[in-house]
This record gives sequence, C-alpha cells and structure tokens, in this order.
Amino acid sequence: MRYYPNIPDLNANSSINLLLKRAKENRTVWIEEYETTGGYSALKKALTKLTPEDIVIMVEESTLRGRGGAGFPTGRKWRFALANPKPRYLICNADESEPGTFKDRIIIERDPHLLIEGMIISAYALGAELGFIYIRGEYPAGYMILEDAIEEARKKGYLGKNILGTDFSFDILVYRGAGAYICGEETALIESLEGKRGHPRLRPPYPANEGLFGRPTVVNNVETLSNIPIIVTYESYYMSIGPAGYYGPKLFPISGKVKNPGVYESTMDITLRELIDMAGGMKDGKKFKAVFAGALGVYSERDLDTPMDYSPKGFGGTGTTIVLAEDDCIIDALIVIGEFFHHESCGKCTPCRVGTYELLNILKKFQEGTATEKDIKYLEHLCENIPVGSICGLGYSAPNAVRDALKKFRDEFYLHIEKKCPAGVCFKE
Ligand code: SF4
Repeated sequence: MRYYPNIPDLNANSSINLLLKRAKENRTVWIEEYETTGGYSALKKALTKLTPEDIVIMVEESTLRGRGGAGFPTGRKWRFALANPKPRYLICNADESEPGTFKDRIIIERDPHLLIEGMIISAYALGAELGFIYIRGEYPAGYMILEDAIEEARKKGYLGKNILGTDFSFDILVYRGAGAYICGEETALIESLEGKRGHPRLRPPYPANEGLFGRPTVVNNVETLSNIPIIVTYESYYMSIGPAGYYGPKLFPISGKVKNPGVYESTMDITLRELIDMAGGMKDGKKFKAVFAGALGVYSERDLDTPMDYSPKGFGGTGTTIVLAEDDCIIDALIVIGEFFHHESCGKCTPCRVGTYELLNILKKFQEGTATEKDIKYLEHLCENIPVGSICGLGYSAPNAVRDALKKFRDEFYLHIEKKCPAGVCFKE
C-alpha cells in the first residue's frame, strides 16, 4: 500500500459497534479484513434475496435520516428520485467541512468499504449505474484510500459490470473538491461536479427531479450511506435500538474542553450531558460553559438534557459538539464561527455576502471594547434578516450561533461593552 498523508490519531469509541465496528481501530481496514468481519454480506443478501423495492421499504421503515445535517428522511428522498425515469445518479457527499465536524472522515479513512458497500446497495435500490463520491480537498488521505478501496472492490467483482454475476452494474468515481464549504450544499456540489463554479442552485427543481446533468440524482452523506449495509444486515434489530422514529446508530464528533475528544457512536436516546460524559467529562476539572453545535447554534448548561435525536426539540444536525469551558469567551468563539461563515459565503446572495461580513465586524467591536448597546440591536437585526434573503443552508444557518448567544449569554455582550471579559480572554494588555 502507498503512503497516505496526514491521517490524524483520532480517538473513536462506541457502545454499540455498528458504524464504528471496525473504524474504532486506529488504522485502515482493507477488503480482506472487511470481508472476514462480515463485510459485503449485506450486498450479497441484497442482490440474491431482496428486490430494489424491498430495500427502499427497509430504508423507509428504518426511519434513517440524512446525517449530513438536514436530517431529511432518506427513504422519502429515494422515493422522489424513483418517481423519475432512468438514468439516475447516486452521489455521496463527503465534503464534510462544518466547524468541529470530523465523523465522516473516520469512516472514509478507516472503514472505506462500509461506505462503498452502502453505495452499491443504494444504487441497486435506486436503479443507478454510476455513482460519485465528492470528497473535500482537505482530506487527501481519504481521497487516496477511497480510490484504492474502490479498485479493490472492482477486482473482487463488487463494482463494475454484472456485479456478483447478476444483471446489476454499477461503478463509483471519486471527485476531489477544492476547499469550498459551500460545495457541501447538494446543488452547489452538483454544479461543481459538472465542472462549474460551486454556487447553489435555486430550488425547485430539486436534485431528485433534475440533478447531475439534468438527471434524477440522490445526494446522501457518508454516514447516511454507511447505515445501509447495517439496515440490510440487521433488519428489525436496527429498529429496536434508539428512540421511536429515530432508530439506529449515530456518530458524534466531540472536540474542545473534554478529556477525550474524538468520534463517539451511540443511539440517539442519549442526551448532550451523557455524550459529554462519554468523552470523559470536562477537561482538567474545568466548569462547563457552552456547546457550539457546528452551524446549528449554541447550547448552555440549561440545555444539557437535550436529546441527541432529530425531534423538534432534539439536537439534530451532524451531531457536532464543540465544548467550551469557563475560561472560553463566548464572543471570541462567535468570532471564530463568524470568520468561517464570512469566508465561506459564496457571495451569490447579498444578505449573506454582506450580512456575514457585518456580523463579523460587529462581533469584533465587542472584543475590541468599542461596541455599544446599539450594536446588540444591530446584531439582532442581522440575525433576523440574513436568512430571509438567502437561498441556501449557509445563509439560513450563519446567524444561528449569534442568535442563540444573544439569548443565552446576553450578559457577556453587556460585560464586553464595559470592557470586561468574564473568561479573561479579551482586553489583555
Ligand atoms: S446563502 Fe450565502 S452561501 Fe448560500 S448561495 Fe447565498 S451567498 Fe451563497
């Protein structure tokens, strides 16, 4: 095997050993080991014992939701595409770029065949003959590992013409992104795959009707597709774990001030508090302050009993959990998130392009000690209006953290107006 650059020594742990069954080992599992540990048996079962419709029904009944952040029911998304004629395409969204999110990476780099098997079974269900993996440019090792694993699968007859002697043919191409967060938005990803500038499209039409090259296209995330072999293998057991309506395993990337940052697998009936405990609790005995949930928003101590599921009051999203302690400044953390969204806004919509710039500049005034009460009002105005005039998820979610912080940590804004930082981060000589 060739040299794969920059694979982090990430901690991975699981209480249920489904998605992380192999990936919790800190190394790549190649095809021989994958097969000897039960790999590709779900594909054999699918192709010999199940019809495409059987698999679609299984996925619908599993209640699987998109693990890329939106939480849209996967079976429903598949139905929309199936209502349109062939050719259909399947795209795996591996452009994982949200702040604090590194859960897909662990599957790609350590258990690539789980994803590949999931894609083959999904393509069989969808009647797709060609699939793409769009991987973020900052995962060079993941790109190389996927290419090599796909070649292994081709040699074994799991990919290519007449897979395992059936009349089903399917192959996968890997496409490397160039570092734009916005290409994780499914229509921008499709534009990029078509060789165009990665700008989101106005919807409708949705990709299930008019996607890649104008054809019906399903875009699913890495973790979502990796659930498919587990659903086919375990059938009713899959629906016996987790809360009603949110069955199956979920990955949670945890970083920040916890003892053991890493990727944790659990069912979704745990709470935010229990998840932090899984990661060993607070680092160095520090007091908990907040969780920044990627693009979703900010959670305070009062929110620690939030369930980690996709219910209306659940945590949802990618499951990203960045833990802040008493010595972290909310304003400082908001500036980090604000810089990210301002940098990654593609610029197509004025409220997002200008609004993220304004949001960042106002936050910096609080850190510099030049903000006034009027700036709190202006932040609220921006939080209300940026999403209204934006056409994609980046614009909708860019103000989430500021909006939540203004409600849950409002005193910190006022203290910064008085040039006081309770964490002792700002106003240092
Ligand atoms: S909302 Fe922002 S990122 Fe999305 S299309 Fe508009 S400018 Fe681009």
